[in-house]
Amino acid sequence: MRLPQEFRFPEESRKKRVTGSRIYGFLKCEHSIVLDLLGDPSKKLEPSEGLALLMRRGVEHEERIVAELGYETVEEEDFEAAAARTLALMREGAPGISQGVLRRGPFLGIPDLLRREEGESVFGDYHYIVGDIKSSHRPRSDQALQVSFYSMMLAELQGRDPEKGYLVLREGNEEEVPVRLLQPVVLEVLEEMEALLAKGVSGSSPHRSFACLDCGWRAVCAERGGVSWIPGLSRTGRELLREGGFGELGELEALAPEVLVERVGLGWGQALRAVAGARVARMGVPLRLRRPRLAELRRPYAGMVALQDGFDRRFPVFGSRREEGEPRFFVARTPEEERGAFEEFLGSLRGASGLVHDGAFRHLFFAFATRWPDLADRLMQLEARSLDVLGVARGAYQFPGPVRRAYEAERMFRGEVGEAEPAPEVAALLAAGDFEGMKGLAGKELEGCMAVLRRMMEEGP
Ligand code: SF4
Repeated sequence: MRLPQEFRFPEESRKKRVTGSRIYGFLKCEHSIVLDLLGDPSKKLEPSEGLALLMRRGVEHEERIVAELGYETVEEEDFEAAAARTLALMREGAPGISQGVLRRGPFLGIPDLLRREEGESVFGDYHYIVGDIKSSHRPRSDQALQVSFYSMMLAELQGRDPEKGYLVLREGNEEEVPVRLLQPVVLEVLEEMEALLAKGVSGSSPHRSFACLDCGWRAVCAERGGVSWIPGLSRTGRELLREGGFGELGELEALAPEVLVERVGLGWGQALRAVAGARVARMGVPLRLRRPRLAELRRPYAGMVALQDGFDRRFPVFGSRREEGEPRFFVARTPEEERGAFEEFLGSLRGASGLVHDGAFRHLFFAFATRWPDLADRLMQLEARSLDVLGVARGAYQFPGPVRRAYEAERMFRGEVGEAEPAPEVAALLAAGDFEGMKGLAGKELEGCMAVLRRMMEEGP
């Protein structure tokens, strides 16, 4: 399969190139690509401090891997000169190339790595395959698609379709990508992108999700409002509502959910969320949709929190608190101290039959059971006693916005829906060695978990 000969950009498009990151971004949020190319750039917000830090760490991770490989790096800044240099290196048979530039018409690819492999191509008895360096611990489909897109460009250059590509992940491990299998998906994404751009900004709609919390276009999308901005609705649900003429919140909130099930074909859960979401947008406080599932919670219970720096899979602070007690914190200043701090934390939970948390423990159960198999039994017992109180609240209530932390949920219950002061990121606090700041954050989240639980219990059946 080949990339199309052309890609039609609207006249007003600020850039007229399809890059790997556009493909990647399109899969995350189609509307963000429309805004990137056709929106007003002065309205785009700067990345938060936490996000900027994560991006910097991603670049450092990439530089470390490239330095270890010792590949030739293409440094020319001008794309044409860089593409010519990449081609020259491939003709010379360089064992590996980093930051090579691949160009074909409107398509531009800058894969992190090109690696020489055996097997004929126009260059001789060898060819190249594409590798990309990522900071995630596990491979994702959007990353694989980016590698497949680069591989399609490479195929035309070397006269051979590479059989595979690869991702280098956070721990330096390599994951193979079946690039040929993904080619139809790349073509489909390009087709959809072209069609959506042709409709302009007004023809594309936001889709509110957790991704919006860190997106520079969130103010622009919030201004647009309507069904696009009701949290918890699926893409299809929003489309069905718009097509059925229920795109405005005023009309939607007056409806009975049954009407949406019958007239628009929404499932019952989505219909309930659509109507409640429209009401919540006006009222500004969460609305209960169904009885929270708290039956599994055993008493006496305790709250527990584990702060995680997802980049390095580190858990620097654990916290626990009994129903009527004071919070206790267990700090691991280095990765080596993590096991000791965790065991002390486990000790602090003795006597509590039920445990409530904000969902972060799901990552911990998996990470620690893999790291310390001898703890697997105790982790399973912990999991069996625990309840994700934030997950229960998300299922039982319609919130005015996406909720990542329990104290954010509690804030919304109190009717504070304006822009919250951004919470300091664990990664940023850890980089600064600010363990007091982390204890403060853990304490706030513990209080949030307990408060959300109390609220759900008090509201009764
Ligand atoms: S704010 Fe959300 S919907 Fe809007 S562009 Fe960003 S990710 Fe997409």
